[in-house]
Amino acid sequence: MSSKTYDAIIIGAGIVGSACAAECAREGLSVAIVEAGIVGGGATAAGMGHLVVMDDSEAQFALTRYSQQLWDEIGDELPREVEYDACGTIWIAADDEEMAEARRKEKFYADRGVKTEMLDAHSLAEAEPNLRPGLVGGLRVPGDSVIYPPCAAQYFVDQTLAKGASLFLGVAVKAITAGGVLLRDGTSISAGVIVNAAGSSSPMLTHGLDVKKRKGHLVITDRYPNFIRHQLVELGYLKSAHTLTAESVAFNIQPRKTGQLLIGSSRQFGVEDSQVDTPVLTRMLDRAVEYLPGLGKLSSLRTWTGFRAATPDKLPLIGPHMEHERLYLATGHEGLGITTSLATAKLLVAQIMKRETAIPIMPYLPARMAQEPVHA
Ligand SMILES: Cc1cc2nc3c(=O)[nH]c(=O)nc-3n(C[C@H](O)[C@H](O)[C@H](O)COP(=O)(O)OP(=O)(O)OC[C@H]3O[C@@H](n4cnc5c(N)ncnc54)[C@H](O)[C@@H]3O)c2cc1C
Repeated sequence: MSSKTYDAIIIGAGIVGSACAAECAREGLSVAIVEAGIVGGGATAAGMGHLVVMDDSEAQFALTRYSQQLWDEIGDELPREVEYDACGTIWIAADDEEMAEARRKEKFYADRGVKTEMLDAHSLAEAEPNLRPGLVGGLRVPGDSVIYPPCAAQYFVDQTLAKGASLFLGVAVKAITAGGVLLRDGTSISAGVIVNAAGSSSPMLTHGLDVKKRKGHLVITDRYPNFIRHQLVELGYLKSAHTLTAESVAFNIQPRKTGQLLIGSSRQFGVEDSQVDTPVLTRMLDRAVEYLPGLGKLSSLRTWTGFRAATPDKLPLIGPHMEHERLYLATGHEGLGITTSLATAKLLVAQIMKRETAIPIMPYLPARMAQEPVHA
């Protein structure tokens, strides 16, 4: 069976694929989205939705900052269910070493035009009275925000469909072919451009991609409005998030507009099953209670896991595949894909349209992984 031809087929309707689809449609391209499950049901449903500027590398900063500016631009137009909340982040320093890290971060951001505010122990306690006493201080980043990611993905899909796109829902792509995709139900779809935005499943469709699953746990509580006011992250988080092998947990908690608290986070490599891992979960919650002792008395509603799509250099793959001339990649966003989805879409579509990108594209090009041959 074969069907019509599109300018672009987007594989995957997570936040990345749906943002790419909306951007393609905005450019006037005819678009087909193919999603094996439901819109935003993959890592996008499992993630925290913290839109955060990060400084692990200049390239990571450039991508997160650019994307955050794009989120700010559309903040007012997002539907209510996206729960966009400009609550800001506080990076918490538990000791002098972490306070030195807060100061380094402050300078890095100040040098690049990001507003921050250093907090001493007193102002930290004032900002977040439920934190335990004895913390040294922190860094407030008021420009960070949070959203509810699956609804944002749905919003981008709706925008794409409003421009006449087709959505193939509940049917998986079996293979990427020379001129399009073959679906599991036998349908062939042709397109000028195919975008692999299948998240942690992207290597199953494009063999040889160095994208690995990195498991994470989250817990959501009942409603406790104003228990915390900012996304709170321990500065020790940076140590745990950046190790590529170890299993790690860190204090990372988010206030939702519903009054609920979303508690993270854990990172595990080499684990394929999606079961909740009780010892990891216990460590994660113990860590959270260490920072917010009152948390121990609150009730949780649900715990789940999800898989981040991790690359070796912690940057996503955005751009043309090295060998398949119609194939583009938009994958490997690890723990920042909600934040960086909008920048990914802009950078991807600029390349498809053969235009200059708004920020230098080199660090994100799949070609950087080309030491060994990669086959579609
Ligand atoms: C615990 C946790 C916390 C996180 N917290 C944050 C955070 O606070 N901030 C942030 O920015 N990021 C966060 N992330 C990362 C973020 O969730 C991901 O980077 C992002 O959701 C990736 O989006 P995606 O569209 O690439 O992938 P996904 O959301 O996984 O979407 C891929 C889609 O492709 C579909 N698919 C797969 N194979 C096929 C196929 N063969 N055919 C058709 N469709 C297919 C899947 O069904 C899926 O819907 C977190 C992740 C986790 C796990």
